Amino acid sequence: MSIFKRSNPVPQNTNITTNTVSLAELALNSINDGVIITDHAGLIQFINPAAARMMDLNAAMSPIGSDYRSFLRLESKEGRELSGNDNPLYNAMATDQPLDAFRGSLIVGNTAKRLPISITVTIPGNFSTNKIITFRNITKELEEEGAQTEFISTASHEMRTPVASIEGYLSLALNPQTASIDARAQGYLLAAHAASKHLGKLFQDLLDVTKLDDGRIRPQFVPAEMVSLIRRMSDQYYAQFNNGKISYSFGTLQDDGSGVNVPQVVYGFIDYNFIQEIMNNLLGNALKYTPKGGTVWVNVRGDGDRVLINVTDTGMGISADDIQHVFQKFYRADNSDTREIGGTGLGLYLVKQRVEALGGKVWVESSFGEGSTFYVSLPRITAEEYQRRMFALRNQQNQFNNGGQK
Ligand code: ADP
Repeated sequence: MSIFKRSNPVPQNTNITTNTVSLAELALNSINDGVIITDHAGLIQFINPAAARMMDLNAAMSPIGSDYRSFLRLESKEGRELSGNDNPLYNAMATDQPLDAFRGSLIVGNTAKRLPISITVTIPGNFSTNKIITFRNITKELEEEGAQTEFISTASHEMRTPVASIEGYLSLALNPQTASIDARAQGYLLAAHAASKHLGKLFQDLLDVTKLDDGRIRPQFVPAEMVSLIRRMSDQYYAQFNNGKISYSFGTLQDDGSGVNVPQVVYGFIDYNFIQEIMNNLLGNALKYTPKGGTVWVNVRGDGDRVLINVTDTGMGISADDIQHVFQKFYRADNSDTREIGGTGLGLYLVKQRVEALGGKVWVESSFGEGSTFYVSLPRITAEEYQRRMFALRNQQNQFNNGGQK
């Protein structure tokens, strides 16, 4: 049996002529995109030649009738095999939800070969119980994006240094101990100083975006107790909230969501710098977008096999039109309130990139004019796993400190 054929003949539908069917087959057999059609249970019914080519299948290895998961195994950008809930393809197929152009690497057979692909799931509906998976080799696309990223990265790196120097000199000019200027000049220099700070932040964010996009910054995973870690990071904002006349509190809830300030111990496997940057962005935004008299509340709790962190504020909130875009690069909600507040529109994009690199998810719930809650959910590890990983980490550190001496 050819691997390119469906296992059952085409149902004879009076509306579809044989000619149309053969033209459709001709199209499927000649395109460069891989197409796999499964039945409702995910058993492969059809696979086109492009899919077979990308998966390195030969005629002796017919996947027809097999579970698509044994052939379509994916790895994340970070080189981690996506299994279970982490795998957007498996999730979409299991829940009959469409998936739009997810990027990952196809694990080709049982080899070390990886093929970067963009993968889409279509659920046709209309009484059909079939599911259609299409995927595309994106090697060339990534190379082109890589060249673009390289340019942005070099340009931001080069521009950051003179901008830092401008900022430094402006600070000196504004400091009465190092310079004397009249009130009008001070006003101009204050504006120039704010603009140069904004530019510096933009270059730093751009540099981080390019490094995260092309995988130059990868998480260094360590075990951590999440409640105390997040508390430490959030409490550092206490003075800033206080000066902004915003009341701040930290609490933990039990798994069922009840009981404020119940001390809980929840373990995660994370990267400290990533978590610090994520919290800086979320807390920085809560501070920026919450007016005087508001409240910010940070909460960490265990939620099944996840660690759930939320940053809630009673600030200006996000409109229904904006909410679906806030995690996109350069997106800033544009309204009379936000226009006065500085920002690059890259912070939440960076949060999303970092959270996903840690195997987590981030989302927001908000009510315009009332406030927002940003949620970060990360994989949770058990107390035993935490001990085991701590032990391994200490051993590694000891070996490093001893310089490998026997
Ligand atoms: P920015 O540098 O503009 O703050 P972000 O990527 O951090 O960029 O956020 C994108 C947009 O999302 C912001 O411009 C703002 O409109 C909205 N936003 C982010 N956090 C909040 C918040 N806590 N409350 C209200 N709006 C927010």
